[in-house]
Amino acid sequence: MKVGILGGGQLARMLVEAGTPLGLDFVIVDPKADACAAGMGRFLHADYTDTDALAHLAACDRVTCDFENVPAEALAMIDDRVAVRPSAAALAAAQDRLTEKSRFTRLGMETPGYGEVNSRTDLQAAVERLGLPAVVKTRRMGYDGKGQMLLRDAEDLELAWRKLGEYPLIVEQWVAFDHECSITAVRSSNGELRCWPVSRTWHRQGILRLATSLPVADNCQRAAEKLVRMLAEDLDYVGCLTLELFASDERLLANEFAPRVHNSAHWTIEGAVCSQFENHLRAVCGLPLGATDARGAAAMVNFIGQMPAPAPWLELPGLHWHDYGKAAREGRKVGHATLCAPDPAGLKSLLPRLDGLLESQCLRELDTVLGEG
Ligand code: AMP
Repeated sequence: MKVGILGGGQLARMLVEAGTPLGLDFVIVDPKADACAAGMGRFLHADYTDTDALAHLAACDRVTCDFENVPAEALAMIDDRVAVRPSAAALAAAQDRLTEKSRFTRLGMETPGYGEVNSRTDLQAAVERLGLPAVVKTRRMGYDGKGQMLLRDAEDLELAWRKLGEYPLIVEQWVAFDHECSITAVRSSNGELRCWPVSRTWHRQGILRLATSLPVADNCQRAAEKLVRMLAEDLDYVGCLTLELFASDERLLANEFAPRVHNSAHWTIEGAVCSQFENHLRAVCGLPLGATDARGAAAMVNFIGQMPAPAPWLELPGLHWHDYGKAAREGRKVGHATLCAPDPAGLKSLLPRLDGLLESQCLRELDTVLGEG
């Protein structure tokens, strides 16, 4: 079976790595000649709306995406000729933060308080209603904290308006959450849904730094599964999707969802029976889904900006190294490592060896999560 992928980033690369043993072939389209997945499968260096590239995709058995901001018109040009999974409508549902949050509200999910902003007056009114601190975000094309500004006092409103006022915006209450977590689910075209254990996540400067598979309270796992199921069924979703949540006072507030494989579930490659990448492809291709159970305990750390020297990391037992082969650039996700152990105690015993390898805040966070288990 031949799978077309729009987008050739590290997610596409890991999809190909998971799909090759399944006997799948891949066609990848990306406008960047040096895309991370350029060396994998058949690579087409072209714009997403390029008619030749789209003709190649339309000739595949299935098409999927490695990011959600693929132009809707690209998918509209092919989805009557080839099964696009998840659907163009499911991608569109995640492209606008306001319609995304409105969907959460319609489904009865709790969210941070939010308001639509199309003018300076709207901004003022929304902040008066929601209170400070708040965060203003562009409705479209924001990721990893890009297109966002924290509003701490009245002066920040003016700065934010000057910086972002030309875009359609959303304002959200800034949540003093206990922690962040996310749940990844895979849904097949016949409606079967499986969830991996909740990932406990930690971000700095809006970028994911750490995700762990350590068991969370049963009620948290159950509540998160209920939310992601509601969302997946509402979207008639096929493939993997991740719902990002703020845990606050025993409540789970929905932040956003990703209609694709997701960074917070990279630990599933070595830390689960079947990874998110393999299960995404199984769902997209109409194959039986694999088990989503964790295998032991796993902690994944992202490498942001540049890769560290691998040798000291590779000395750690149970360490799995993923260098995406990207050029170094500030704020860019260039790789990750997943540390696996038979159980949380095994992971904890490795903490002293991470001193000096992990940034100290990240190490403290991992220590805290392991201490709670
Ligand atoms: P986002 O791109 O919306 O997922 O934001 C990236 C990160 O910024 C989140 O994972 C949080 O760490 C933080 N963040 C975003 N929105 C809020 C909010 N309303 N309250 C508190 N933290 C937030």
